[in-house]
Amino acid sequence: MRYKIKDIGDDGVDVRVAVTEAWLRAECPEVDMRPSEGGITFSGRLERAGDEYLLRGALRGGLVAQCARCLEPATLTLDVPVTLTFAEWREPSGKEEDEDDAEDVITFQDGVIDVGPEIRDELLLALPMGPLCREDCAGICPTCGTNRNLTPCDCAQRPAGGGKFAALAKVKL
Ligand SMILES: [Zn+2]
Ligand SMILES: [Zn+2]
Repeated sequence: MRYKIKDIGDDGVDVRVAVTEAWLRAECPEVDMRPSEGGITFSGRLERAGDEYLLRGALRGGLVAQCARCLEPATLTLDVPVTLTFAEWREPSGKEEDEDDAEDVITFQDGVIDVGPEIRDELLLALPMGPLCREDCAGICPTCGTNRNLTPCDCAQRPAGGGKFAALAKVKL
């Protein structure tokens, strides 16, 4: 995932990064998700643009997460456009830099651009906070603990706090 700027010709270079399960585990240990069967790939192009280097592409693929409501596997589809600007780090020259510009630029040193951490950040930003197996997932019943997608229950219609199932559900959670 490291590219030497001297290898970036006038036409740029193709960048392809496969997001593997091992990489996801190593780079994003707090994320409880894995790539789906088709995997996730970043593909794009790194090109020289004046003094800077532009990476343009997209993160595409699928992730399997746990549904926030019913805890069953939820498959998420990602198609995230990515545009990143890299610039060689320089000793501050003293004169005022354009602040707005500087914020969006990722600096690199020793003539090597490492796109790995940036792609990881883009992926993390793209992940939903509460993934759902489907938009209208009915979730687990807080009273009886049933997955209401599979077995509708009538707890919601009954007065709250009844019976042995309520106790069971509490123990399970
Ligand atoms: Zn669900
Ligand atoms: Zn219920």
